[in-house]
Amino acid sequence: MSWLVGGSVALFISFCAWRLIRKLYHSRDEFERLSRTDALSGLLNRRAFNEAFESVQDNASLAIFDLDRFKAINDCHGHSAGDIVIRTVANTLADSFSSLHPVARLGGEEFSVIIKGGQQGDRMALVELARRKIEALTLNFETDVVSTTVSVGVAEIVPGRRKDDIFISADRALYLAKASGRNRALHENE
Ligand code: GH3
Ligand code: MG
Ligand code: MG
Repeated sequence: MSWLVGGSVALFISFCAWRLIRKLYHSRDEFERLSRTDALSGLLNRRAFNEAFESVQDNASLAIFDLDRFKAINDCHGHSAGDIVIRTVANTLADSFSSLHPVARLGGEEFSVIIKGGQQGDRMALVELARRKIEALTLNFETDVVSTTVSVGVAEIVPGRRKDDIFISADRALYLAKASGRNRALHENE
């Protein structure tokens, strides 16, 4: 009889230990997922973006998207309306690029996408499509209809090119896109 009780207790303890270990694994996965996710937008955060960026060596473009005159939306409609705009643009970017292309929020109203594969022109066409989708968005805040646009800078990821230099070049193209009127995507070669 005692071996039966002992066996049952051992089985019960093993079951509890197995459940605890499984829970710990799930918590670790969830913690890992959260540490790579931007809380406001649900996109990759800067840390996850840097990892993805470092792992791509060739045949890809880096696009940096920055909302145009976003401060005015915060000023006119409030910070929480600004947050809704950030989330809506984030969803539009995630919808515009398949899961092959990492999409991240770098901070504030700035996003980045690594567009992989195809020709340079194909990648630029995807960026342009995303820009147009954002341009077409309309959001309602009380009685006001708010729309927004983005400026985009694009640079090429090629073997041997330093990641810092790629980022600086995309940022410079973004600056030129802003300076030349906003609501446009400019390639570093333009
Ligand atoms: P530009 O076209 O030159 O990019 O102008 P801009 O107004 O978009 O850029 P600026 O850098 O002047 O303003 C960005 C604003 O974004 C300022 C800051 O308060 C706001 N901001 C940054 N992070 C957040 C956020 O998480 N939520 C909201 N609602 N606003 C944010
Ligand atoms: Mg901006
Ligand atoms: Mg900005």
